[in-house]
Amino acid sequence: MDSCVTWPCAALEREPLGPRTTLGVGGPAAWLLEPATPEELRAALCAAREQGWPVRLLGAGANLLVDDGEHPYVVITTERMRRLFRAPRDAQRERGAALFLELDAQADEAAGERDPRLIAWAGVSLPGLVNKAAALGLGGLEGLVGVPGHVGGGLAMNAGGRWGELWDHVESALVVDEQGELQELTRANHAVGYRDGKLGARVVVGAVLRLEPGSPAEVQARTREYLQAKRSAQPLTERSAGCVFQNPPREASDGRSAGQLLEAAGCKGLRIGDALVSPKHANFLVNAGRARSADARALIERMRRAVHDRFGIELRQEVKDWRAAPPG
Ligand SMILES: Cc1cc2nc3c(=O)[nH]c(=O)nc-3n(C[C@H](O)[C@H](O)[C@H](O)COP(=O)(O)OP(=O)(O)OC[C@H]3O[C@@H](n4cnc5c(N)ncnc54)[C@H](O)[C@@H]3O)c2cc1C
Repeated sequence: MDSCVTWPCAALEREPLGPRTTLGVGGPAAWLLEPATPEELRAALCAAREQGWPVRLLGAGANLLVDDGEHPYVVITTERMRRLFRAPRDAQRERGAALFLELDAQADEAAGERDPRLIAWAGVSLPGLVNKAAALGLGGLEGLVGVPGHVGGGLAMNAGGRWGELWDHVESALVVDEQGELQELTRANHAVGYRDGKLGARVVVGAVLRLEPGSPAEVQARTREYLQAKRSAQPLTERSAGCVFQNPPREASDGRSAGQLLEAAGCKGLRIGDALVSPKHANFLVNAGRARSADARALIERMRRAVHDRFGIELRQEVKDWRAAPPG
C-alpha cells in the first residue's frame, strides 16, 4: 500500500471526511476516490481491493458518525455520480444492467413521456430525486422528502419512514459484487429489512425506480405536506446524522418509538461537549458547535443507558460508526 499509487478516477490523499458528512465530524481518509461513472466506480473498487485496501462507501454522509482519527482506508464517494435519467422509450426489462451503462445525455431527450421510471446513478441526491419526481408528476417518493443522502446510501440503508421506504419503489438495482462483477438485483428477488438494504459487501452503482404517474400539482402538494410535518417534529436544518437509534420492535416497547422512549427517559437537551440531544426530537444528536467524535459517542452511550435503565429496552444504533481502526 504505497502512496505512489495511481487510481482509475479522481483521487485525494489524506482527505478530511468531516466536511463530507451532515454531522460535520471526522478525520482524514488515507485516500478518497471520486468516480464519475458506473464504470469508474467498479474500476476504483477493484483497484482498491486488488491493492489490499479496506474500502468504505460514502454517499452524502447523512447516516454516519466518523471518528476524528486517521482512517487507513480507501473511501469511495458517489458525490460525482449525479446523473438522473428518464427511462428511454425503448428500454426493455431484459436489457437489465446494460441499461445503466449505455445511457448518455440523449436518454433524457428520448425519454418515454409516459414511462413512469427514473434511472438514477448512485450519487443522485435523495432530495433532488424527490423534487424531480414531483415536478414530473411521478408519485411514490414524497415520504422521503427531508431525508438527505444519495441513492446508493439510501438503498444501503433502505431509507424511509412512516410513509414508505426507498426500496418500495425499486424495480432493480445495479451493484458491484465481491468479485468486482456487475450484478442486477431485482426488487422481486431481493429481500430487504428495516433500515437495511441487505447489500452485504455489494456496492450500489444505480437503480431503476418505478413510480406512479400522477399530476405534478398533486405530487408536489403531498411532498409539501410531508415536509411540513417533518419540519415541525425534526431538527432538519441542524447538523445531525438523522435518528441515532432504530425503533425497537413494537411488542418490546408497547409501540413507542425510540424518540418517545428517549424523551420519556429525559434525554432531550443532554449535552457532552458540543454534542447535544436535540430539544426538538430526542432521537437526533446534533453538532452544536465543534463536536468531537468522542463526545458524540459518549452521548450516544448515555442515551442508550437512559432508556435501558428506565425501560429495560436495548436500543439498536441506526447511525453507522466509522471507527478509525481497521475493521476486524
Ligand atoms: C436531518 C436528517 C433526517 C433524516 N431522516 C431520515 C429518515 O426520515 N429516514 C431515514 O431512513 N433516514 C433518515 N436520515 C438518515 C440518512 O438520511 C439516510 O440513512 C440516508 O439513506 C443516508 O444516505 P447517505 O448517502 O448519506 O449514506 P451515508 O451516510 O454516506 O452511508 C450510509 C451507509 O451506506 C453505505 N453506502 C453509501 N453509499 C453506498 C453505495 N453506493 N453502495 C453500498 N453502500 C453504500 C455506507 O458505507 C454506510 O454504511 C436522516 C438524516 C438526517 C441528517
